[in-house]
Amino acid sequence: MSMLTFAGVHAHYGAIHALRGVDIHVEEGEIVTLIGANGAGKSTLMMTLFGQPRASQGSISYQGRDITRMATHDISRQGIALVPEGRRIFPRMTVLENLQMGATFAKPEHFDGDIKRVFELFPVLEARQAQRAGTLSGGEQQMLAIGRALMGRPTLLLLDEPSLGLAPLYIKLIFRTIEALNKEGMTILLVEQNAHHALKVAHRGYVLQHGGIVLTGTGKELLASPEVRAAYLEGG
Ligand code: ATP
Repeated sequence: MSMLTFAGVHAHYGAIHALRGVDIHVEEGEIVTLIGANGAGKSTLMMTLFGQPRASQGSISYQGRDITRMATHDISRQGIALVPEGRRIFPRMTVLENLQMGATFAKPEHFDGDIKRVFELFPVLEARQAQRAGTLSGGEQQMLAIGRALMGRPTLLLLDEPSLGLAPLYIKLIFRTIEALNKEGMTILLVEQNAHHALKVAHRGYVLQHGGIVLTGTGKELLASPEVRAAYLEGG
């Protein structure tokens, strides 16, 4: 049984047909990446998982449970955490308060151990825990957004363009963190326009075009694929 399965999923925004029969699966322990151009439907796919928008056709299951029509707040309680594009941290709260917000639904007895783990992963967050989050650099905010998601102890972590707009040094650090989390057992679905980095760390990948999957394979296979190279790697 796969951890996550999309079977023939369609999604619409009014008249816009954003997903057109998407089939993907994510196995426990994998890093799976979804690559595609602007507007291909990557963010929509992640949001459809939470029912925003709802799948208009097809089904989504998570750990053997059909979540296609489940309420959004119930889906997030299944252990799925999303780090949205653009990070969306709480800018006026401190770093520590942001991390506390991430632990809202976690057991209080887990807090000390979990925050220690986040600080080990991102030492800069410990050093800046009393600082307002809005004054962090873009890369630090991305670390905070990931740290906040981890405080909820997810079993599946969804990352929507975590490297977008970051300096090269931070991009490296974010991808290294993704690999480290995965080695500790975290299953990760990663949406990226940075196809090169994403395919390098991913076990498998899917290429999304106009709302449909057009190509799939291992990270290595997709990196070597002429179609992928021409559309997403060369010059990019
Ligand atoms: P990007 O990398 O630019 O975010 P994407 O691959 O994530 O691209 P989506 O954001 O999923 O693509 O967009 C897929 C299609 O759905 C696009 O045509 C987009 O214009 C449309 N779309 C996305 N969100 C909405 C919305 N809230 N209302 C109407 N149309 C939308």
